[in-house]
Amino acid sequence: MKTSLSADDRLRQLASKPFVARREYFGCLVYDRQNSDYIPFDEEATGIFAKSQTYSLDEVYRDLSETVTRQSFDTFTQLCSSIGLIKDGTFQGIFLDNEMVEGSQYLSAPTTVYLQLTRYCNLACKHCWADAGAARPRELTILDIRKVIDDMALMGCFKLRLGGGEPLGRGDVFDVIQHANSRGMKVSIATNATMATRAVASKLGELDIDEIKVSMDAGSEKSYDYLRGDRAYRKAMRGIKNLQELSKAPIYFHAVLQRDNLTEIPALVKQAERFEIPRIVFDIVAPVGRAKENPKMMLTIEEANNALDLARRIGETSRCKVEIVSKVPPPFQRKRVFEGFGSECGQLHCHINSEGVVGGSGFLGTVLPAGNVRERPLRELWHQGHGLKVLRNNPGNNTCKKCDYFKSCRGGDRSRAYVTSGTLTDPDPLCLIASKSGAH
Ligand code: SF4
Repeated sequence: MKTSLSADDRLRQLASKPFVARREYFGCLVYDRQNSDYIPFDEEATGIFAKSQTYSLDEVYRDLSETVTRQSFDTFTQLCSSIGLIKDGTFQGIFLDNEMVEGSQYLSAPTTVYLQLTRYCNLACKHCWADAGAARPRELTILDIRKVIDDMALMGCFKLRLGGGEPLGRGDVFDVIQHANSRGMKVSIATNATMATRAVASKLGELDIDEIKVSMDAGSEKSYDYLRGDRAYRKAMRGIKNLQELSKAPIYFHAVLQRDNLTEIPALVKQAERFEIPRIVFDIVAPVGRAKENPKMMLTIEEANNALDLARRIGETSRCKVEIVSKVPPPFQRKRVFEGFGSECGQLHCHINSEGVVGGSGFLGTVLPAGNVRERPLRELWHQGHGLKVLRNNPGNNTCKKCDYFKSCRGGDRSRAYVTSGTLTDPDPLCLIASKSGAH
């Protein structure tokens, strides 16, 4: 007799497996827990994994012998064995039968959830997209958050990124991470580091944290304090040291470029080198939150591209890896596991704000909401939430459709396009190709 597991047992079972496979429209997406990464496989590979749980590999091959040579079958299964996916002829993961909408071409669940733990922040940065300050009156409780985390795990979504406001300003941040860890998730945190006392950093060190993103927008004390508030720089420097010594998690810097810190790029890279930070990511300010109230800080398309190019050039001779995420088209080829026009927002990722509203990104949740996790489970909102459907059914524009970079770029960042032009179909506002063609 088949016995069904309780939700708790199922969650424990999922957390204990090195691989979790989600059925998807193209085959399956396998979460590799050790490397905290997702690997896409086509229908044929998915069939091999599924059948290997019941039959020997010879028997599995017999079924496929009309379409696949023995040599390519053996090469594939040996490759899977080399990364531990197949052991003693059996797939080592667990299959999730996620809901899929007939004929659809989007993922059965997000791969990453960005969770805004709070809108409380101890600083008052001029460019804060979240307009952070005081905590909002109806922020998610620890019970709400545990429910979201459990729902994520049951859908096979194992990447949780905590942000704010300042997530270290929320007293139960350690409980949140601990619960996510117990569900087999690695967690990343975005912080300004100023609240990372030695006690806080030590507590983080007891948890399984994938990465700590430290926002760092200036290389000098004067500029940093101008952007983020008096005496913030010294607190941030102390916090970074504490995190490096005690948290055990890898740290990287994230810099948002705007008019007031354009000259800081070399100093920012130097600062990262001085702290032996291995990676710094440069981004461009968008007109959201407090930045929207201060249009003087916005950059023209040329200024933004020149700044990103300068950062890239400095990175060529730096021991710190410089990444320019906002560059359009992307400077490297990207294979995407979703079809059509659009970015990761609503396709691979979603964002939950501190009051439970789900959206394709932090910028889009309030203007294009998909619903609230207090009222409906995340799995339902992922498939049925209006704001996410709109993102997935985006027809795009002719400039992007005809563009040589389309396959890798897909029109660039939808959130930036929406907050800049008010429409989801325009090319990315930082795209020089679209700008030259008059599409902006
Ligand atoms: S035209 Fe569209 S697809 Fe081409 S690089 Fe620009 S934003 Fe990307």
